[in-house]
Amino acid sequence: MKTVLITGSSSGIGLGIAKEFAKTKQFNIIFNGLEANGPEIANAMGKEYGIGTMFSSANMLKPEELRKMVDDGIAKFGKIDVLVNNAGIQHVSAIEDFPEEKWNAIIAINLTSAFHLTKAVWKGMKERKFGRIINIASAHGLVASEFKSAYVASKHGIVGFTKTMALEGAPYNITANAICPGYVRTPLVEKQIADQAKTHGIPESEVISKIMLYKQAVKEFVTVEILGQAAVFMASDGASTLTGVALPIDGGWSAQ
Ligand code: NAD
Repeated sequence: MKTVLITGSSSGIGLGIAKEFAKTKQFNIIFNGLEANGPEIANAMGKEYGIGTMFSSANMLKPEELRKMVDDGIAKFGKIDVLVNNAGIQHVSAIEDFPEEKWNAIIAINLTSAFHLTKAVWKGMKERKFGRIINIASAHGLVASEFKSAYVASKHGIVGFTKTMALEGAPYNITANAICPGYVRTPLVEKQIADQAKTHGIPESEVISKIMLYKQAVKEFVTVEILGQAAVFMASDGASTLTGVALPIDGGWSAQ
């Protein structure tokens, strides 16, 4: 049995990724997130798929809590083989109005937490000569949109960090890849639909058709299932030469 730690896995994309790992029945899962029902989600998935699970409410803003989550996971399952850096937040605002505390929180949660967690699991992965790090970036790790300065900076940052991990990990069979989704209809996006409607002064239905899916050639929201399947593939033993990649799953958005 391998063990996967997935941040932000009590909601949205992280939860969808956890489900795809659970379906293989080859991974214990360390769940994480701020949702109050996180422990129940972890327990229920453990029972449904007959795998080991645990839950940590470690806050991405607190490096000592992240290190403790890794230590607790290793104490329970012996090792961490796969790390999925997924937790993230968004704030939509023009640059001149962008609150400094929001900028700092977005960089800390979307980018710096991945550094702390990668650092914490790296030594063990190196010693065992196996590690798979999967960073959930965004189409905004490859292209920009207006009013998302901090988010775009954080996601471009994590794509760059992914490449450095790939180079340093290569001699030790540690791979690192980023997945760059287009729009996925999760709580994070529901909030953005409301925020964008306010910023642009248009109804929410128009935000979906005229702003969000406007940029995608495929006029559908990306599903959590396809993202989870990509993550499971990247985590597989055979994917040892797939590294340093930023894979868009964005309905053709970044092809333009
Ligand atoms: P979500 O809001 O449904 O889930 C985010 C998760 O992160 C939650 O479990 C939340 O508790 C956790 N989280 C947030 N702040 C945290 C903190 N300080 N400490 C610990 N956990 C924290 O959002 P989602 O849409 O599932 O987003 C997941 C990731 O996918 C994010 O990195 C996001 O940027 C990225 N992404 C989302 C979309 C999309 O369209 N939804 C597109 C591209 C990339």
